[in-house]
Parts: sequence; C-alpha cells; structure tokens
Amino acid sequence: MAKDEMWHGIPRKDIPWFPAVDTDACIGCSLCFTTCGRGVYEMKENKAVPVKAMSCMVGCSTCGTVCPVAAISFPDRDLIWKLEREHKIFKVVREEAKEKKAKQDAAKARASAEDAVAKLTTHVRFEAAGEFGEKRFLVQMGELVKGRPYDFVNLRMDVPTVQGARQNTPSFMSFDVTSTEQEDIQSFLSEVRDLIRRNGLTLVSENKL
Ligand code: SF4
Ligand code: SF4
Repeated sequence: MAKDEMWHGIPRKDIPWFPAVDTDACIGCSLCFTTCGRGVYEMKENKAVPVKAMSCMVGCSTCGTVCPVAAISFPDRDLIWKLEREHKIFKVVREEAKEKKAKQDAAKARASAEDAVAKLTTHVRFEAAGEFGEKRFLVQMGELVKGRPYDFVNLRMDVPTVQGARQNTPSFMSFDVTSTEQEDIQSFLSEVRDLIRRNGLTLVSENKL
C-alpha cells in the first residue's frame, strides 16, 4: 500500500473521517470547495458534495469550521483518539518525525550553504571610460590575471569613431571580473580599480552581479 494511503501506519480506508454535508442547510457559497486543499469537494447544482471523501486529511475539520451555516459535520474526535490508542501509532510517528527532522535539517543546511555562496562576490561588472588607444590596456588585463584564479569576461569596447580613436577621443569599455573557481573576488577588485586608475581612465561604475 502506498505511503500516502496510510495514516501513521493505519490504512486510510479503515478510518471513517470525512465531512458530511447537510444539503438542505447548504447555501452553495462554495467556501468549503475553495478552502479544501485536498480536492475533496465538487459543487453540484449549487451544493457542496464531498466526492473524494477519503482524500480528507484525518483530523482536519477546516471546511466545517468555516461553513457559514454549519452544514458540514465530522465524526466525534474520540474516534481519532481511539484509533491512536488501538493501533499504537506513536512508534510509527516517532520514526516519521525522525525522517521529517532529517529532511528539515538537510533543507536548512542546503539553504545556509546557498546563502553563504550568495554572499560571496564572484562576479562584478566594471565600466570605464577614457583613452584606451595606446595604453595596451588589454595586455595589462591579461597580465593581471595570468596564473591566477580570476578572469575578465564579456569585454565590450565602444569606440565612437575610428578617426576619433586616432585622435585619442574617449572610448567606453565594460567588462566583468569573475572567479574561475567560484571564490570570493573582493581582494582582487582593488587591483582592477588600480589598473584603471594607473591608465588614467575613469571608473564609471562597478556593480556586483
Ligand atoms: S461552506 Fe457550507 S454552505 Fe458553503 S458550500 Fe460548503 S457546505 Fe455549503
Ligand atoms: S476537513 Fe480539511 S481536508 Fe477534509 S474536506 Fe474539509 S478542508 Fe478538506
């Protein structure tokens, strides 16, 4: 029997817990139909009908609570307590709780690892402007990352005119600084800023991606 057909070790089909609708009292407001997350109800001729009664969650009585005319009833709560005692479900519950806690802990650990990675700075976009023409700026960028776990990617150069470039008209360059090992690059960024400054260029913007 599939796990979701069981309730803490008891076959769901052996548990008579489901809503009963007094169709005379039902005013067809659909609140139970829209509230139930288990798809228990269908609306038929403006009345709520529990067509999948055994999909009802054992112990839940939410639809009965919200029904504005108290048209929905459930078995007595003693029924659940009696089943818990008779079937000695708490051994199963303890195992289920252990499993659930392990899953929760794993999810928390995963979230905190993802959080730590998100806090790392591994990708920063720079924009710089000025005269790049004779400064061999690209060569210097290459030298800066040579043999190191960094790289410059997505380089874009915007040269307004070729004639202008010859006459040292300011150009615009953007590039991303990345880590080739997904490590934090904060300490390297000051070297990049320094490179821009040394070349007499203007740092237009610097944004973490
Ligand atoms: S909430 Fe009550 S009145 Fe509204 S449809 Fe359901 S049974 Fe009927
Ligand atoms: S008691 Fe809960 S699970 Fe059962 S039919 Fe109502 S809302 Fe759905």
